Amino acid sequence: MTSIPDIQLPTDLIPGDGRFGSGPSKVLIPSLTALAATGDTLMGTSHRRPAVRDVVGAVRDGLRALYDLPEDHEILLGNGGATAFWDAAAFGLIENRSQHVSIGEFSSKFAKVTTGAPHLAEPDVIEAPYGTGASLRPDASIDAYALIHNETSTGVQLSVARPAGATGLVLVDGTSAAGAVAVDHSEYDVYYFSPQKAFGADGGLWLAVCSPAAIERIETLDASPRWIPPFLSLQVALDNSRKNQTNNTPAIGTLYLLAQQIDMMLAKGGLDWAIDRSETSSTTLYDWAEASDIAGPFVSDPAIRSTTTVTIDLVDEISADTVEAVLRVNGLVDTFGYRKLGRNQLRVACFPNVDPDDVALLTRAIEYVAVRL
Ligand SMILES: *Cc1c(COP(=O)(O)O)cnc(C)c1O
Repeated sequence: MTSIPDIQLPTDLIPGDGRFGSGPSKVLIPSLTALAATGDTLMGTSHRRPAVRDVVGAVRDGLRALYDLPEDHEILLGNGGATAFWDAAAFGLIENRSQHVSIGEFSSKFAKVTTGAPHLAEPDVIEAPYGTGASLRPDASIDAYALIHNETSTGVQLSVARPAGATGLVLVDGTSAAGAVAVDHSEYDVYYFSPQKAFGADGGLWLAVCSPAAIERIETLDASPRWIPPFLSLQVALDNSRKNQTNNTPAIGTLYLLAQQIDMMLAKGGLDWAIDRSETSSTTLYDWAEASDIAGPFVSDPAIRSTTTVTIDLVDEISADTVEAVLRVNGLVDTFGYRKLGRNQLRVACFPNVDPDDVALLTRAIEYVAVRL
């Protein structure tokens, strides 16, 4: 881009908080203030001592309450984010052959991991074009099915469902859905996520809700002759998680921000409150785009449009890059689309932390900029 047009938004179009990024996403200021206020009691103290273990415990208990988890489900956590979890799953959850729904950047990355893993058979990868969805297909040769709840790169949201009659585990990437979209606990074995998307905390961590079948698979593969890199061992993660610890030093600030976020959500009304916030914001955007002369939803099927990461195509005459740049100068940041899609597109996070009123202002700000280009 050569230069950014000099367009100043009127003050009544400036949202209370201008962070619309899909990850890292808006962290609540009160959470940051609370973190700073912990002073000398938390940051810089041992992660094996009560101060930090209590935070891990609060996260695990809080998630259990938020999701109303069945008694026999366990929450595991470790370092490295969802990306590390893919590698850990390739060693500790997939026995021989996996199947993947691959509909965008993140779902394709997990498929790449298992395609390259020398100890696993060639995976079955079910691909669909960007902006569309796909379903898992029951297959007797598959012992682990990989599904994505919300494909952050394209703004496609799928329902979490076991393939009919399948016996394999169902592993669901819930990274940009967890904390904002409902999920039926009987339809998955592992629901894993990083906390810097829908949960509005910080990065560096993965969390995984595991069914008894998933725990059993972890234990079986750990006892098998397969070599598992210790850092990626889910058995090690399981043993540590049960003690409210991580295998190695975690980012304590991330854990604290996540605990604050979960507390806030429980106080506001739990997952239902969060789901409603995301639905309100995303509906505002889709309704605006449908009615607008300059925009339209990228995902044509309304049934699979994301409620958390909304992708909006602009007409060719209006450069999304330029709109994004002008918005940024005005303090409305991170509305860019996913680069690799190569579309003239904006993407807006509608995570629970984002105020629906700010989203409404954003649509007006986009129109304001567009007509002045
Ligand atoms: C961001 C994202 C990831 C990767 O998360 P990291 O914490 O960066 O490893 C994986 N899956 C989805 C759906 C994501 O949105």
